[in-house]
Amino acid sequence: MKTVRKIIASQRKSLGEGQSVMSPLPNQWVDQISPFIMLDHFGPKDIPAGKPFFVPPHPHRGFEPVTILFEGKVEHKDSLGNSGSIKGGDVQWMTAGSGVIHSEGAPIDFAKTGGTVHLIQLWVNLPKRAKMSTPKYQDIPSEKIPSIKIENTTLRLIAGTFVDQTGPAETFTPILLMHGIIKAGDKLSMPIPQNYHSSIFVTKGELSTDGYEIPEQHLVWYNEDNQNIEISAIHDSEFLLMAGEPIEEPIASYGPFVMNNKAEIIEAIQDYEAGKYGTIV
Ligand code: MN
Repeated sequence: MKTVRKIIASQRKSLGEGQSVMSPLPNQWVDQISPFIMLDHFGPKDIPAGKPFFVPPHPHRGFEPVTILFEGKVEHKDSLGNSGSIKGGDVQWMTAGSGVIHSEGAPIDFAKTGGTVHLIQLWVNLPKRAKMSTPKYQDIPSEKIPSIKIENTTLRLIAGTFVDQTGPAETFTPILLMHGIIKAGDKLSMPIPQNYHSSIFVTKGELSTDGYEIPEQHLVWYNEDNQNIEISAIHDSEFLLMAGEPIEEPIASYGPFVMNNKAEIIEAIQDYEAGKYGTIV
């Protein structure tokens, strides 16, 4: 079985206006687990009626911001003309590519009633060849995400191939992304392609792996020393399994731009200031 390389606790990151996320990646010890460059965990949090959350329009270039919504509703608008609302269980997979501007927040009906919001935002890097590709938006409803049952455990396959099933998200590099739901006392073995980086983030409960206990909101990063990740659940738990072929290229990042070098970052900022990412209508 795979051995543990690092266990990373989340750090609180302020979003302003009293909102914050817990973030294990990046941090002062680990700048990325390629191809995954950022993970923010929001909630589960009760949002009172009349106090909607809203992230105003902002740009992205050079990577894929992915929203995995476990609970609640999020409305999205972008400069490609896409708009839509996702609900608990759905995934929004955006390819920022050469540049997109988007805003996210609670839809009007949800803002009126309030409710629980629980989500992960995951940034997936793009290889050099795809950083300036045409922006794309994949709206993935939960009905399209296969649920794989292994005894009492459910694995929801968002991207990649596992056992004999394939997840709906289209990716630029080989990725395996799954949302797991496991009962206390249950064990699970997951084969991962040997060259993939692999990690698990515990969104709820507590897991055990390779003799370590992994509490809620901790991320465990594995060595590439074996094929199988083996976990057991200490409590009823949920987790996100992230695995993928590493992108062996330099990274230069600045805020919402993730490129390969500093000149490309300067260009990304200049293009944004010149209005080249379009506008939200
Ligand atoms: Mn964004």
